[in-house]
Amino acid sequence: MRSVPQRLERLVCAEHCRYYKPWATPEPDCNSAQWLLELVGGRAELLDGVERLRGRRLSLTQVQEGTLLRRVCTPCQHYPHNCAYRRPDRSPGAEPCGGLLVLGQLLGAGLITPEDLLGSAAHPKHGTA
Ligand code: SF4
Repeated sequence: MRSVPQRLERLVCAEHCRYYKPWATPEPDCNSAQWLLELVGGRAELLDGVERLRGRRLSLTQVQEGTLLRRVCTPCQHYPHNCAYRRPDRSPGAEPCGGLLVLGQLLGAGLITPEDLLGSAAHPKHGTA
């Protein structure tokens, strides 16, 4: 039986992140991955929502994009210059990391709210229900 971090690596990074390298250790400081671990750790049913995204091509709406920029990307250690999607000189085809795309889908489905993403993943201000 895989652990939650192993399942998230498979369901989020391997499935949806174009920057994922299976031969490398996943980036421990990717803030979207930390948030997913935090949220799924408190609400196991969210893993079903992530499972349902398998095989889908994901994108962000403008509203999700703004919320996730403020609450997930700006505190991320890759932001901005070490992130292909957020760097000021990004290429036109640059895509968000897989964790950001999955968080956007969970927001869009109402499975999480912007308030769930207050604070930092390491020190969330929200109470997980
Ligand atoms: S898109 Fe970039 S800055 Fe935002 S969470 Fe992912 S790696 Fe971090």
